[in-house]
Amino acid sequence: MPNADQNDILFERARAVIPGGVNSPVRAFKAVGGTPRFIRRAEGAYFWDANDKRYIDYIGSWGPMILGHGHPAVVEAVQKAVLEGFSYGAPTEREIELAEAILALVPSMEMVRLVSSGTEAAMSALRLARGATGRKHIIKFEGCYHGHADALLVKAGSGLATFGHPTSAGVPPEVTQHTLVLEYNNIAQLEEAFALHGNDIACLMIEAIAGNMNFVRATPEFAARCRALCTQHGALLVFDEVMTGFRVGLHGAQGVLGITPDLTVLGKVIGGGMPLAAFGGPRAIMEQLAPLGPVYQAGTLSGNPVATACGLATLKEIARPGFYEALSKKTRSLVDGLKAAAAAEGQPFDADSEGGMFGFFLMNELPQNYAKVMTTDNAKFNALFHGLLDRGVYIAPALYEAGFVSAAHSDEDIAATIEAARQIFKASQPR
Ligand SMILES: *Cc1c(COP(=O)(O)O)cnc(C)c1O
Repeated sequence: MPNADQNDILFERARAVIPGGVNSPVRAFKAVGGTPRFIRRAEGAYFWDANDKRYIDYIGSWGPMILGHGHPAVVEAVQKAVLEGFSYGAPTEREIELAEAILALVPSMEMVRLVSSGTEAAMSALRLARGATGRKHIIKFEGCYHGHADALLVKAGSGLATFGHPTSAGVPPEVTQHTLVLEYNNIAQLEEAFALHGNDIACLMIEAIAGNMNFVRATPEFAARCRALCTQHGALLVFDEVMTGFRVGLHGAQGVLGITPDLTVLGKVIGGGMPLAAFGGPRAIMEQLAPLGPVYQAGTLSGNPVATACGLATLKEIARPGFYEALSKKTRSLVDGLKAAAAAEGQPFDADSEGGMFGFFLMNELPQNYAKVMTTDNAKFNALFHGLLDRGVYIAPALYEAGFVSAAHSDEDIAATIEAARQIFKASQPR
């Protein structure tokens, strides 16, 4: 069957043995329809699917591939590490090197613990915050994602500043009864929550530049209010920088906003594409962790020697002078080009970026919270998604995801992407 679509064939095989054919739900293209592309290989700014069709990749494994795929220095470090063994379950010098490298770049952290996924890091940070404060309640915001730990899979309750409901089957309400879900960028609601529950709040966890409801910035006033209220009430401010860490800038969203959180959660870029994540903060809090303190946390593959080699090599490249200036400029040129193309074709559109992370919206102004993001015209987004995919441009297959540019994207890649979008804008009728 020379003309058979290999992606279709693989999807059918996958669905027989893996629920939905994927190991993480958004990959299934459920929101946009169609067959997910099965990737065979990647290089630089591109990957190729099972039909050997090439795509300009704006997902970058959902953030980690900030250098592009297969950066020679990273490949070399990983190859060398693999030859020395895959995993020891005992400490290594490389873990210290990575910890030192992370702490040097994120001054709010005095100590760090390495884990294997963002979910694990956020879940552990939450336990640490509760253990360190001796409090139960936590605050999160609608549209922010902190991995799939039970207490964090919560949607907003019915009233203002009430406790949330589980968003997933299998999460007992008892487990989410201490999770307050508030509206992002809503200062009045935040103040009310602290007024009502301030003395019981262990931590406030936030994506200070949110990348899991497309791309939405916390306003400087809102972020400052989060910091001030946490300080005032003895709650810990936790920045979940799994996506923004080393992505929006060398010092993360905290560097962009100029706000010092108590705890920071990292992932994605720090592993350079390998399973690696971390959480850290002031020494006095981090020393509450086992084996020093009473808060238990552990991991068979934590600080894995191959993953740490990959992360270290990646951090070394992104810490070079001018890296983020160049990446920001490139990402900005994509965003500006898309805006100009939409304007030329009379399409409602707005977009934003920070460092190598961007988001665009099929509406005339940037939304400030989840409810507003969700007013996006689904059919229009899906048409744009599939139009780009046909033209060899791969963006996230859901309108509530951010996009990522890597150092490997060329000006030609950006120009080709803008031109592809222009053609689609031109063909679609403005509403
Ligand atoms: C991706 C992400 C996570 C979860 O990380 P995993 O490695 O997928 O478990 C948590 N928080 C944020 C902000 C993320 O973007």
